[in-house]
Amino acid sequence: MEKVRKVVIIGSGPAGYTAAIYACRAGLNPVLVTGNQLGGQLTTTPEIENWPGRNDNPDGISLMQSLQKHATDLGTEFIYESVEKAKLKGTEKVLTLSGGNEIRAKSIIICTGASVRYLGLESEEQYKGHGVSACATCDGFFFRNKDVAVVGGGSAAFVEALYLAGLCNKVYLIHRRDSFRAENALVKRLTELSKTGKVEFILNANVDSIIGDGNKVTGIRVVTTTGLCTVDVEGVFVAIGHNANTQVFEGQLELYSDGVIKTGFTTQTSTSVKGVFAAGDCADRVYKQAITSAGSGCMAALDAEHYLQELS
Ligand SMILES: Cc1cc2nc3c(=O)[nH]c(=O)nc-3n(C[C@H](O)[C@H](O)[C@H](O)COP(=O)(O)OP(=O)(O)OC[C@H]3O[C@@H](n4cnc5c(N)ncnc54)[C@H](O)[C@@H]3O)c2cc1C
Repeated sequence: MEKVRKVVIIGSGPAGYTAAIYACRAGLNPVLVTGNQLGGQLTTTPEIENWPGRNDNPDGISLMQSLQKHATDLGTEFIYESVEKAKLKGTEKVLTLSGGNEIRAKSIIICTGASVRYLGLESEEQYKGHGVSACATCDGFFFRNKDVAVVGGGSAAFVEALYLAGLCNKVYLIHRRDSFRAENALVKRLTELSKTGKVEFILNANVDSIIGDGNKVTGIRVVTTTGLCTVDVEGVFVAIGHNANTQVFEGQLELYSDGVIKTGFTTQTSTSVKGVFAAGDCADRVYKQAITSAGSGCMAALDAEHYLQELS
């Protein structure tokens, strides 16, 4: 009979690794199921300027590797698979993994974060991987000295545009409004660059379609206040937000209509099911930062520890 673990953590972003560090130190021998994106969203960003104590601006991959090493050194057991099914009610929780095995636990900490949101256009689907991307760090290299467009007006769009401006000939930032949700510091930096002609803002513009020659992107068609226009670009980077990775928990936990997990039932990270805790972007509709995710991962581990103490 498969043993019942004290705690299983789902997700290997800042929330998951921090939960693992605290769970190890509480003697809970955590198992962490990493999911497909080892290290989480931060691994797609080239520079992090706001992780406390790291004013050397580390890249996301190396920062997350250092968190994983910390969790490993303290004794976390890693499973490099995804959770495909979850039975969360009752005192024994059962997770079915992508490899087909089941894992049982008395408590679960969900740290499944969020995934990139796309525009939902047929032409976008056609050219994904052929000029359409959602990750400048991963794909920007292929567009060196070329013209590209970034779609979006939040911090992620500005981070992508700034990174691409360092690689590409020209970056168009296309946004459906004329004001931005992005951090002021990022807006300032990109506005400065626009004065050099390296960056151009196309505002009040909705993407109509992505144009290509059948093999690769050749442009993007947008509807602006003056009508339809085509911008010649070879790359289109979509940066319009994220969806909570919580589909696996539908019907098991109370979720908001956008899929974010409801928390705060008994303790701050508690969910609608006893013994199940949630931390990071999958349970956050406001802050969505690496450090807030890490902080809530810590809280979830402490909440799980107290829950297990009460069980025994
Ligand atoms: C381009 C970009 C730049 C950013 N820059 C910054 C920045 O400079 N500073 C900052 O503070 N924040 C930044 N952020 C935001 C930050 O990355 C997130 O807030 C943070 O990563 C959220 O952490 P998390 O642990 O909640 O989840 P995530 O980092 O999203 O990780 C989720 C984890 O869950 C796993 N997972 C998902 N589903 C399953 C499943 N079914 N089974 C098992 N595992 C699963 C995934 O594999 C992944 O490991 C940036 C985000 C992006 C996209």
